[in-house]
Amino acid sequence: MSGVADWRFGALLWVGFGLAVTGGGLSVGVEAEVTVRTDFPCGSLGSFKQTAPDRFVGSTAHWIKQDRVGDQYYWFYFRIDGAANRALTFELNHIEGVYRGNAHFVYTPRTHPVVSYDKQSWQRITDVTYDADARRFTFRHAFRQGTAWVAYAHPFTLDQNASLIRDAEATPHASVSELGRSVEGRAIQMISFGTDGAADRPIVLINALQHSGENGGALVMEGLCRFLFSDEAEAEALRQAYAFHVVPMMNPDGQFHGVSRYTWAMVDLNTQWYTPAPGEPEPAVEVLAVKRWIDAVYQDGGKIALWLDLHSNTQRAERNALQSPDNILKPLADHINQHWPIIPRDRNKTRSARDYGYNTYQMMAGNVEISQSRMGDSTDFTIADYHRFGRTLALSIDAWHRELQH
Ligand SMILES: [Zn+2]
Repeated sequence: MSGVADWRFGALLWVGFGLAVTGGGLSVGVEAEVTVRTDFPCGSLGSFKQTAPDRFVGSTAHWIKQDRVGDQYYWFYFRIDGAANRALTFELNHIEGVYRGNAHFVYTPRTHPVVSYDKQSWQRITDVTYDADARRFTFRHAFRQGTAWVAYAHPFTLDQNASLIRDAEATPHASVSELGRSVEGRAIQMISFGTDGAADRPIVLINALQHSGENGGALVMEGLCRFLFSDEAEAEALRQAYAFHVVPMMNPDGQFHGVSRYTWAMVDLNTQWYTPAPGEPEPAVEVLAVKRWIDAVYQDGGKIALWLDLHSNTQRAERNALQSPDNILKPLADHINQHWPIIPRDRNKTRSARDYGYNTYQMMAGNVEISQSRMGDSTDFTIADYHRFGRTLALSIDAWHRELQH
């Protein structure tokens, strides 16, 4: 028997081709059941069915923005069981969306999803084809073990975030506070370093995951935090010199539900950085949580020396970028470039995080876009690469800030 279940999310997707039975009264399984499911945090997939013992056909989930001018669709993350020693093909159709009112195509012939048997170590799937006319992306993988996780790119799940928070609470080098709650009541937390001593240390604010699914930026953030947790002399020097404040996950609801870009309320948080005019609705609560913290710093007579809002390009872009109003952070990009490649770009867009900082407080503010594939002709980024980027981002911030003081 074969069955197809349409589902929204959180369901067991499909229970596959049943056991074939041979004669003599003995049941012999010639085809083990293959199941695909997304009922775990950050799991996501559109309609999906098994059309042959070794072939699955479907699409990613589409997420329509509240104002209906955005349709984001690239993130998928599923668990497969019964896959041991089988080469399986996955065909994704309907892979087109809308970004700022324009047709948006994310998948390419160089898109390399990831697979893991333990959710710790991931490998890229490079056996892929992209049919640009049919807008069809197909990938194949020979599974060594029965249970595996497959995703668009490296995940940064709520579990990983919780583990980072636990480690922050366990080290004497950091403290954790709660800035607010998401629409669904999940904590929006801040990890602070270097706040134990002198009050006049320059404040560096870093946040990740305004946009769910942009996990490359989150993994850079994780690398930066793990460096600052460490007993390395360079980390200690940074903790003495600066007050680093890190908001690891601004959009936990979108992340939990496996949404591409938006919150679960289908809001793009990076359009919510404004002070409402009379009659205008308040910004999203996730933004308010961080915005109030920023406003309080300035109301108390303080200032923020640098604010970096970490995002990810999709796999399509194949570049890292540091975008700032009037390219004010180009000198920081020059320092980062001594460690890993990043392109400085002049960007100004109202109601984004960096522009709120720049326009309201004349802050040195920018957003970092980290590729979820690679940089130009480099090899595909790994988690170790992202963590290295995070460590050297912290060192680059220091080098840039020292230069600024001269
Ligand atoms: Zn983004």
